[in-house]
Amino acid sequence: MRIDKLLAHAGYGSRKDVKQLLKNRVVTVDNKVITKSNVHVNPDEQSIAVNQKQVHYQQYIYIMLHKPKNYLSATTDRYEKTVLDLVEEQYQHYDLAPVGRLDKDTEGLILLTNDGKLNHRLTSPKHDVFKTYFAKVDGHVTNDHIQQFKKGVILDDGYKTKPANLVIEKSNPVSEVRLSISEGKFHQVKRMFRAIGMEVIYLKRLSIGDLLLDKTLPIGKMRLLNEEELAYIV
Ligand code: URA
Repeated sequence: MRIDKLLAHAGYGSRKDVKQLLKNRVVTVDNKVITKSNVHVNPDEQSIAVNQKQVHYQQYIYIMLHKPKNYLSATTDRYEKTVLDLVEEQYQHYDLAPVGRLDKDTEGLILLTNDGKLNHRLTSPKHDVFKTYFAKVDGHVTNDHIQQFKKGVILDDGYKTKPANLVIEKSNPVSEVRLSISEGKFHQVKRMFRAIGMEVIYLKRLSIGDLLLDKTLPIGKMRLLNEEELAYIV
C-alpha cells in the first residue's frame, strides 16, 4: 500500500499533511528516509517510523459503540448527528461504517468497522446471526406471544418473520422483554410488536451474535474490541 495512505489511516493527518511529513524527511522505512508519497510499503514486513517512532498500522479496526438516542446509524448526514461523530479522533481516518442499522431512537450495541467482508457476513440474511434486543412494550406480553414469535408473525407488508426467541422479563401494562431475531428488516422489532397489537416504547440492542454490549461502557462511548470479542465475530 502507498505510504501516504498508510500514514493517513494510521492517524498522521490528511494526505496533504502526510506529504508535508515526507517532505520534512521524518518518515523512514527500514531506517531509510522516504520522501515520495507514492512509495509502496508492506507494513507486515517493513518497519515504518515517523520521527523515529514506530508506526502501528492496523488494516482493519473493530469498534464497539454504546449508541445513545438521537444519533443516526449512518456515516454522514447533512442535518443530524451520526454514530461516526462518537468515534474518537484517532480512528476517524479508517473509513468506518456501522454493521447494520439501529433506528434514531434505539440505543445500544453498534459495531463499526472498515472490514467490508465482515460487515456483509454479519448483516446478510443468509448467515442467520441473531441480534438480541431489550424492549419496553406498551401492553401485556404473554406466553401466547412467545409462541407467535416462534412461529413467525406477519408484518404490515405481508412478510412472515423467521422464528424469533422472546423472553418475558416483566409482564405488566408495560412489559419488559428480550427478543432475539436473525433478520434485520426495517424497524423489525417495532413492526413485530405492532403485528401483535403493541407499541415498543424503548429499544436497546444488547448483542450481535456472541458479541455482547459491554455493560461498563458508558452511553455515547466507544472502545476497540478485545481479542476475545474479535474471535467471536471474525
Ligand atoms: N428493530 C427496530 O424496530 N429498530 C431498531 O433500531 C432495530 C431493530
